[in-house]
Amino acid sequence: AKNIPAIMIIFGGSGDLAHRKLYPSLFNLYRQNLIHDNFAVIGTARRPWSHEYFREQVSDAIHEFFDEVDENDVKNFCTHFYYQSHDVTSVEHYVTLKELAQELDDRYSAQGNRLFYMAMAPKFFGTIATHINDQKLVGSGFNRIVVEKPFGRDLATAEELNRQITASFDEEDIFRIDHYLGKEMVQNIMPLRFSNPLIKSIWNSDHIKNIQITLAERLGVEARGGYYETSGALRDMVQNHIFQIITLLAMDEPKDISSSSVHQAKKELLDSLVIPSEEDLKKHFVRAQYAGSDTTFAYRNEPNVAEDSKTETFVAGEVKFQKGPLKDVPIYFRTGKEFREKMSRIDIVLKHSSNPYGFAHSNNITIEIDPKSRIYITLNGKKISEPGIRREDLVYGLTDQELAQLPDGYEKLLRDVILNDSTNFTHWSELKRFWEYIDTIEDYWTKENAEIEELPQYAPYRMGPKEANHIFESPTERWIYE
Ligand code: NAD
Repeated sequence: AKNIPAIMIIFGGSGDLAHRKLYPSLFNLYRQNLIHDNFAVIGTARRPWSHEYFREQVSDAIHEFFDEVDENDVKNFCTHFYYQSHDVTSVEHYVTLKELAQELDDRYSAQGNRLFYMAMAPKFFGTIATHINDQKLVGSGFNRIVVEKPFGRDLATAEELNRQITASFDEEDIFRIDHYLGKEMVQNIMPLRFSNPLIKSIWNSDHIKNIQITLAERLGVEARGGYYETSGALRDMVQNHIFQIITLLAMDEPKDISSSSVHQAKKELLDSLVIPSEEDLKKHFVRAQYAGSDTTFAYRNEPNVAEDSKTETFVAGEVKFQKGPLKDVPIYFRTGKEFREKMSRIDIVLKHSSNPYGFAHSNNITIEIDPKSRIYITLNGKKISEPGIRREDLVYGLTDQELAQLPDGYEKLLRDVILNDSTNFTHWSELKRFWEYIDTIEDYWTKENAEIEELPQYAPYRMGPKEANHIFESPTERWIYE
């Protein structure tokens, strides 16, 4: 496909996400001719910028992202950008926006196609959706909307937002972004599982003892304490990213790799998601906050964080399904702030079998998502000069050159939106189920908060609280990445 016609409207055009991710990604898609002569972008935000000033900002964003660019390409690209200062609650502004979109549609022959991108503070998503509907901003061609995270803060608010959006858009035209689904190694989970008979044949509860997912950040909340207080690690990381990863790991093989078949397989799996009981929550879940050090703040001393805050900056827990290849297999996760290192990985821990050597390592499979993109499998072999077994890893990875040329996740996801492929986006049926699960935990924690003084505190820049070592089902289980 080449030169897809569309007018794209970015709500939050002066924001950090637009600057760091969206403009560089669109520039690459422009250089690849996916969008070219027949597209234009309208950036909207509060500030009273001119088109000219906006184009300078877009040009800066591109120069910051790429080491080398053809200045002519940048110049031509930027002529497609327009700016409309906009207050999200003002009816008039939506009318002006609609008129500008129509004017640009005529100028660029965009065939009535519209792409809306919500890149603003999430509290505005519902208002924007309602105005898109009331002031009839949709065009006469295709209309798609991209929605950033978080989509609601519980099931009730997510349902409300979904109602506001579905007033103008069908489910297949709603692209709920989960940027983990744009990551190379997350996109590799399906090929790993389904295109390798070797892996496929052991992907079941006979061979897999448990799965361990770690999404670790090195930084604290930085300047985002105010936002984080309304979220916490569970909503920020588990409700979306961790659940999407789990779903890809535990679903049955889809009929084919079309978006509808993949979402169907996910839906069937999630119908069998076990909602944790209070007993489960006591035994298999831990939440905690980072403590301070000589040089860093404790979470509760961060700016805009309540001194008696019970918002978790770390959470570990367990997910299980009643059906599918991983029926009853524990899937453990841990995530949060101020870990020892920034990294994301999945460890698939295989069961041992008896062998004549007496000792052998289990054949674990690790999918390293960040910072490296690679998969490795632990193999046993003989020690060279003494009796016994030694362990070596078999590695599948990208070459340095491939890594250097890897498109950003946002570029891949924007390409998918333009090509109308929603495989790597969150379907409403998934989101709904994720929130039901998260709400159960949040409700229990809210109740528990009345009885506890404070959350466990953990030393910064390690692997989280020691309490997380006791969430396992059996005493023979432990975090294999320490
Ligand atoms: P930001 O605060 O940098 O940008 C917000 C934008 O909204 C700005 O352009 C601002 O001018 C505009 N705005 C705010 N109030 C307005 C009003 N009343 N009327 C009109 N415009 C208004 O935020 P961001 O970091 O770009 O995040 C945007 C979205 O992207 C959020 O949903 C966030 O969760 C998501 N996101 C951001 C990142 C990131 O790296 N920044 C990563 C993942 C997801």
